Amino acid sequence: MNPVFNQSINIQFPNDISLTIKREDLIHPFVSGNKFRKLKYNLLKAKAENKDILLTFGGAFSNHIAAVAYAGKEQGFKTIGIIRGDELSDRIEENPTLKFAQQNGMQFEFVSREEYRLKSETSFIEKMKDKFGDFYLVPEGGTNELAVKGCEEILKEEDSVFNYVCCAVGTGGTISGLINSALPNQKILGFPALKGDFLNDEIRIFAKKDNWNLISDYHFGGYGKINLELIEFVNAFFEKTKVPLDPIYTGKMVFGVIDLISKNYFPAHSKILLIHTGGLQGIDGMNIKLKQKKLPILKTND
Ligand SMILES: *Cc1c(COP(=O)(O)O)cnc(C)c1O
Repeated sequence: MNPVFNQSINIQFPNDISLTIKREDLIHPFVSGNKFRKLKYNLLKAKAENKDILLTFGGAFSNHIAAVAYAGKEQGFKTIGIIRGDELSDRIEENPTLKFAQQNGMQFEFVSREEYRLKSETSFIEKMKDKFGDFYLVPEGGTNELAVKGCEEILKEEDSVFNYVCCAVGTGGTISGLINSALPNQKILGFPALKGDFLNDEIRIFAKKDNWNLISDYHFGGYGKINLELIEFVNAFFEKTKVPLDPIYTGKMVFGVIDLISKNYFPAHSKILLIHTGGLQGIDGMNIKLKQKKLPILKTND
């Protein structure tokens, strides 16, 4: 685990508003950002239960799949990835995420989208147990109570100076940890990376306070959807600040925060902390798709 630091963003905003970003993306070279936090206590529990196999779920470009593969290997687990989309089984070589996971020892089980929807049902889990043996199940996106506990360690004492903390939201585990560990003077804003009204309820399962809000205007059409405006924003932000953002989560969140500043959402003198939850491994895969669509690619390293 590498030390995480807060980097102030060198962009001038009106009304003495300042932006700082917590570089959780640098926490580990391959298990980036919130996926590291979410796995920490789950892997301890798997060890305590003497499990030597981790089984989890994800899509073709999933940050979570890449993280489980690498963290599992590092800590001596066998890993099984249930992957959405049976058409992917002969296309591993073309997919940087799946290739990385496979190189780090993950064994895949490709399932159709229909079957994937039933993945949490006992019948499916039993089928997997018959096939692979007893395993520790890490839920899709990694969110459970232990994941939230890990995310409660993101905010530190020194962060008490910030009155807003902003993060991207997928399943809601990360924001729940931030909510639980926030100070009374802090408001947590979540930016869902996908469409849907179910997230408020999901977050209420784990979150113990009401110091938060979801801002649902910046999903760009849904999970994994991006457009030229977002690509250009991510590239310009990198050029100005040298902070690389991923297009699926952190890019949309930072776009949203800066747009809200321009719309006077934040009071004067607000000190805003952005949580960089990582996800940079997904950029190579996204760039392959962007090239196919003849769109500009994401430039997030020099
Ligand atoms: C998975 C992920 C998220 C979403 O986290 P949740 O805990 O599922 O809300 C946000 N950012 C990045 C980079 C991620 O990989």
